[in-house]
Amino acid sequence: MKGNITFTMIKPDATGKNLTGKILSMITEAGFTIRALKMTRLSKEQAEGFYAVHKDKPFFNDLVKFMTSGPVVAAILEKENAVESFRALIGATNPANAAEGTIRKLYASSVQENAVHGSDSDENAQIEASYFFSNLERF
Ligand code: GDP
Repeated sequence: MKGNITFTMIKPDATGKNLTGKILSMITEAGFTIRALKMTRLSKEQAEGFYAVHKDKPFFNDLVKFMTSGPVVAAILEKENAVESFRALIGATNPANAAEGTIRKLYASSVQENAVHGSDSDENAQIEASYFFSNLERF
């Protein structure tokens, strides 16, 4: 059964371009309900932990540097079939391959600086949500 929760982060490129409001608006217009929300800046250790699955990739150090370069806006989102539905809204990892009208097509500038994160499975959505939010911060 498909879960109804996903986790997202508006990444430092997008917060730095003052796109937080526009992106949150696209998310709620697409039918997602915000169940948790915060702006924060990741430490090096926090970014390394979040992206631990990529630690052997050649772009890992650059990715950590980028993700710690400014604030992020993290959120837990609810919608039927949330993970898949949100991946469709944000588009492909590389904005060059992202479909028209997706968040990454509109706002990403490169494969690394791609504006938003979206969980890739129900299991990771729960892990990532718990990485950022305590039970007291989830509604
Ligand atoms: P996502 O699930 O679409 O976010 O993509 P991945 O899990 O594959 O990668 C995580 C993040 O690492 C991406 O969102 C990008 O910010 C970054 N990334 C992925 N592939 C590359 C790459 O080839 N080069 C660089 N510099 N960054 C990448």
